[in-house]
Amino acid sequence: MNKTQKPVLIIGGGISGVTTAVEIAEVGKEVILIEKMPYFGGNVVKFNNYFPKLCPPTCGLEINFRRIKQNPRIKYYTSTEVQEISGEKGNFNVKIKTSPQYIKNNCTACGKCAEICPEERPDEFNYGFTNTRAAYIPHEIAFPFKYHIDNEYCKKESCNKCVDACKYNAIDLSAKEKITELEVSSIVTATGWESYDASKIENLNYSDSKNIITNVEFERFIASNGVNENKLLRLSDNTEPKKVAFVQCAGSRDENHLPYCSAVCCSASLKHALTIQELYPKTEVKVFYIDMRVSGRNEDFLTEVQENKNIELVKGKVGKIIEAENGNLILEAEDILSGKKIKYEAEIVVLATGIVSSKTNLNLNRDQNQFITDKQIEGIIPVACSRKPMDVSSSVKDATSAAVKAIQ
Ligand SMILES: Cc1cc2nc3c(=O)[nH]c(=O)nc-3n(C[C@H](O)[C@H](O)[C@H](O)COP(=O)(O)OP(=O)(O)OC[C@H]3O[C@@H](n4cnc5c(N)ncnc54)[C@H](O)[C@@H]3O)c2cc1C
Repeated sequence: MNKTQKPVLIIGGGISGVTTAVEIAEVGKEVILIEKMPYFGGNVVKFNNYFPKLCPPTCGLEINFRRIKQNPRIKYYTSTEVQEISGEKGNFNVKIKTSPQYIKNNCTACGKCAEICPEERPDEFNYGFTNTRAAYIPHEIAFPFKYHIDNEYCKKESCNKCVDACKYNAIDLSAKEKITELEVSSIVTATGWESYDASKIENLNYSDSKNIITNVEFERFIASNGVNENKLLRLSDNTEPKKVAFVQCAGSRDENHLPYCSAVCCSASLKHALTIQELYPKTEVKVFYIDMRVSGRNEDFLTEVQENKNIELVKGKVGKIIEAENGNLILEAEDILSGKKIKYEAEIVVLATGIVSSKTNLNLNRDQNQFITDKQIEGIIPVACSRKPMDVSSSVKDATSAAVKAIQ
């Protein structure tokens, strides 16, 4: 490689950003990888498991984290976002802003700071369904594996308990935000996706019922390191459900919400339905769908679901969900195949909400659905779910292609 070439900047450290970074560094080029959260891994790290092989997120991610740690060509920053980009292909100037790092890199993750910390915060990793202390480790396979202090909830020097408890002198509560100026040759935007806000779909009653959750929340409910640790319990009364309904295209393919298909929700719900059957073989599952869109190896899930007598696929859009006094949920839908209006009473409803491209402060061209388009100033390359919805294996392929473009 040309040693005078400047590094490539990758914005976003989910599976696609991490893969792009590793691919570029392993052919000998310098990389700077930034992530706005205190940990890498993006949405995948929050999953219970992921298709097609249904392996835990540790599978693909841990090895990549090791490759990053071992590769001196990759410089990485967490809790960091871009503030400003100027310049052109081969010669961009970028200012990045890192929020105060109250816990330094010599943290051994002994956990004494969290033990003594008196303040609590909602745990964003579990979508606020659980709390952690203001001094916390994001999750067990967090990379970097170190504690973090939540600026908003920590009482800083007026408390100081964690500073006194830390044997390694790894806490500095006076730390300030840091601006770093970078010169880079090209920029890959790997900013990924967020879940569509289910509270906007008023007819599906998400905001008013505790027993209606979204597909991403389902992943955190059921995960072994999640809200219920491998159990699915209703929030209203902590009981295991005997009947669960999935509502596909919750807000998707709907002009009032997201006019497009998010490509992964059908496979995700089939994965979820099979997980419920594994945990609770007697629980009845109904999946209400408009069209079942699964492809490639995920078609195996469809066959498995069709063969399972406790899972029923109902072709019909759910128009309304009403909560009964006992917390059960009455779904009203039209069964397209029989032409009849049906009502179904479930104990938990999972809304398969779609993917929206992450909002950023980057001034980039976006398409009519707000995904980042390929038409940017030369040298800026969008990748994976920042440019359109796709699954992990397509994201990884897209990352390899972005790596080649960035090097060129
Ligand atoms: C319910 C559900 C279940 C799914 N299950 C599966 C499955 O089982 N198998 C499968 O193959 N696919 C699955 N998917 C799809 C999978 O989540 C995506 O393919 C994958 O997350 C794409 O990775 P990514 O890196 O593009 O984006 P993300 O995972 O979203 O990562 C983006 C990263 O960028 C960071 N970021 C965002 N903005 C900024 C910024 N301005 N500055 C710095 N950093 C930023 C984010 O914090 C995040 O870490 C599922 C999707 C859904 C909705």
